[in-house]
Amino acid sequence: MWETLGHDNVIDFFTKVLANERIGHAYLLSGQKHLGKFTFAMELAQAVNCLNTDRPCKTCLQCMRISKYIHPDVRVFGSDDEMLISDNSQITIDEVRTIQVESSRKPFEGKSKIFIIDNIESMTIEAGNALLKILEEPPSQVLYILITTDISRVLETIISRCTVFEFAPVETKKIVDYFNQNLKEKSLIDLQYIAKISRGKIGWAMKAIEEPNILSSRESNLEKLQTLITENVTTRLGYVEEILSDRTHSLKLAIEQIELWYELWRDVLMVVYNLPELLIYTKFSKNLKMLAAPLSAMEVIKCLKLTRSALDDLRENHNVSITFERMLLNFPVLGKI
Ligand SMILES: [Zn+2]
Repeated sequence: MWETLGHDNVIDFFTKVLANERIGHAYLLSGQKHLGKFTFAMELAQAVNCLNTDRPCKTCLQCMRISKYIHPDVRVFGSDDEMLISDNSQITIDEVRTIQVESSRKPFEGKSKIFIIDNIESMTIEAGNALLKILEEPPSQVLYILITTDISRVLETIISRCTVFEFAPVETKKIVDYFNQNLKEKSLIDLQYIAKISRGKIGWAMKAIEEPNILSSRESNLEKLQTLITENVTTRLGYVEEILSDRTHSLKLAIEQIELWYELWRDVLMVVYNLPELLIYTKFSKNLKMLAAPLSAMEVIKCLKLTRSALDDLRENHNVSITFERMLLNFPVLGKI
């Protein structure tokens, strides 16, 4: 039984394909982080090699070994899953060569050899071209499941060799229903709130329930932004400098912050439109009202556009601090809350 939540169209497709034994050679799973792409890829690997009829059964030897990452025919590359000991999710040319060599060998114990290759957008051109060569002449009994959070950065030639599945955010109701059915200790958790904040990212919602500090740190970050919007240029630039002080992760940190800004402006817009039922961060509704008071819808939409274009610029490799600062300096300065 599939345990991937949502994405019914993708599951239906593969259920049919597996029933007819017509699985292809290469699939590309595309969509934002935490939507369940990696979970689905692992389940697909199980379903392909499963020994029972209701695939993936999750109980046969094949399914179990795959879920523990100890199946010799199922290899994972580029993943930042914490069960895999890897501190670098960028796939190297050497790893692609390993994939090439292993692809030419027959499966040891499963029906198919499966390579799950995550974060393919961060591959070097050299590694990407080597992967393309493999995809151009895929050996039989081998399945490549590629995963990306940013398809615009994946080589066109690689995309053209794969069947692409776009993973959409999971509906809030589905996430709430899932937790209601599966959580033992749920009385203390506001599931509706977490599901809403996750914005369809089931993986994030699961983590937030397991580790409550994820939610509290998101909230305190958002509170900081609410104050920052009332501060002057110097304070704003100080904030950018502080966020980007960790130079190795500056791009990731900037994107996280800008996405949070987007959520803040989105909620401010809901207040301006007088649609309180659509607020995500309901616990900040008093502050949001104060921030929204002097603003018109057009002004808030302009701020939303500034965050969107900052995110686009970062994805196109523009300078991180210039992009981040420009966005911040173009936001209005509001009265203290
Ligand atoms: Zn099985």
